[in-house]
Amino acid sequence: MKILKDAGSFVILTPEENLKSQLLTIERAGRTCYQSVAQEITQETAEKFVKMILKLGHESVMEHSLMIVQFNDCSRGLTHELVRHRIMGISQESTRYVDYAKPSAEVDLEKFELKCVVPAHKNENEKVKLADGREMSMAEMLQETEEFYRGLRKAGWLPQDARQILPTAIKSQIVVSANLREWRHIFKMRTARPAHWEIREVMGKLLEKVKMIIPVVFEDFVEAGKDENGLKYFEKISRS
Ligand SMILES: Cc1cc2nc3c(=O)[nH]c(=O)nc-3n(C[C@H](O)[C@H](O)[C@H](O)COP(=O)(O)OP(=O)(O)OC[C@H]3O[C@@H](n4cnc5c(N)ncnc54)[C@H](O)[C@@H]3O)c2cc1C
Repeated sequence: MKILKDAGSFVILTPEENLKSQLLTIERAGRTCYQSVAQEITQETAEKFVKMILKLGHESVMEHSLMIVQFNDCSRGLTHELVRHRIMGISQESTRYVDYAKPSAEVDLEKFELKCVVPAHKNENEKVKLADGREMSMAEMLQETEEFYRGLRKAGWLPQDARQILPTAIKSQIVVSANLREWRHIFKMRTARPAHWEIREVMGKLLEKVKMIIPVVFEDFVEAGKDENGLKYFEKISRS
């Protein structure tokens, strides 16, 4: 069993230039509402327009956009929280069709390793007492889960049946397509202090990245502090 302690990573699949040029589309679409035709729509006019639209709270105009992000090495717990957001397209690693006993091209019921995400702020090797008298660490518990999965697979259970024993910590991968209005909503919910540490950390890093690419869209999200584990959280402030 392989322990993953670092927060999951992401790749923005929409090219940066495409993200920037989408602001021009938003201006073109948004000006339909006001029947206000600009002489020429440029990156500069589009940023000014988006700033004005967001300040007015006319967020539906932001729906003329799309950002696609792939999240890697995050837990099934994180992906389960992410898929609760309803206005998005999703493709996720399947626990039915992915055979965790197949580390490469061949199934290897002896050598395969499950990958599990654990909290970086906890010691996964710390022993805790169980009701049956055993003392076990989280790493050992996850290892035992791997043995359960191995045992079921060796007994002929299919991956889709054996998966019932997999933990929330199991590593997953997901691709999410959403418009910029929905991403703003996701950042509001998932980078705030009450959000779970794992999704908060991954979304916080994604937010910092997109703030650099298209700052005008996300400038009202600011770092607001660190929690008891030293992990950042953000808040949405009013636009000036
Ligand atoms: C800290 C935290 C704790 C949570 N705890 C729990 C929990 O204990 N149990 C649980 O089940 N979930 C929990 N959730 C998940 C939460 O309830 C929502 O499922 C999740 O935030 C996504 O839904 P959403 O309404 O925010 O927006 P999205 O699904 O992302 O939709 C975006 C917006 O579109 C609009 N919208 C979308 N669908 C509809 C609709 N059908 N009708 C009207 N308007 C719509 C709403 O304005 C919504 O805000 C938690 C989330 C957070 C951040």
